[in-house]
Amino acid sequence: MHINKENYFQILKELQAAKATLVAVSKTKPVAAIKELYDLGHRDFGENYVQELIEKQSRLPQDIRWHFIGHLQSNKVKHIAPFVHLIHGIDSFKLLKEVNKQAAKNNRVIDVLLQMHIAKEETKFGFDENELLNTNWKHPARLIRSGGELHELKNVQIIGLMGMASFSDDMNLVRNEFKNLKHIFNKYVQPQTPNIKLQTLSMGMSADYKIALEEGSNMVRIGSLLFGSR
Ligand SMILES: *Cc1c(COP(=O)(O)O)cnc(C)c1O
Repeated sequence: MHINKENYFQILKELQAAKATLVAVSKTKPVAAIKELYDLGHRDFGENYVQELIEKQSRLPQDIRWHFIGHLQSNKVKHIAPFVHLIHGIDSFKLLKEVNKQAAKNNRVIDVLLQMHIAKEETKFGFDENELLNTNWKHPARLIRSGGELHELKNVQIIGLMGMASFSDDMNLVRNEFKNLKHIFNKYVQPQTPNIKLQTLSMGMSADYKIALEEGSNMVRIGSLLFGSR
């Protein structure tokens, strides 16, 4: 199995203009494929499953920046806390607190993104904007405005938002969902507090990253264009 180098260099070129980061999504793909991309100089890789991630992490070079992009269960955080670079899918305050706890145990500060629910589908995880404004302190995103209890979580840093558009051929729908996420991002980008510094907007996958870039993404998560279909 070989990676698609042509696509890789083409995508890098497109991202350069937008100063965006490429997270190469390697879920279900073998260590050899990751190593191939690594040897071209790539360091940011994304995985969805904890077990798979820790196994790959132990077998690959230690300077890889591992992004956890899947749905993370609280009881699994401890397995990735020692090394994970960025957790994209924080979708509850409970999970955020657990990341903070495990980060503290490892003597580090872990960067995270809040996952926003922007798609029409019910199945996608994440907050919606009402929850950002909800007076219920349990929603961490609201704390972006209030400061709230979040300042007590000294071992996490919220550095941005992540979202997935609807799985749809309707590119107008997809574009509007990205627009919406960018709009929310802009609204909360200020003020910056000690552990809330929104700077990363993770949106766009193989099928829709060009639209995502046009709508202001600065981090795309691309799998199949690089590694082939799953
Ligand atoms: C699998 C996955 C991707 C990559 O999808 P491709 O269509 O293969 O580019 C991106 N983001 C998340 C959250 C994923 O689960």
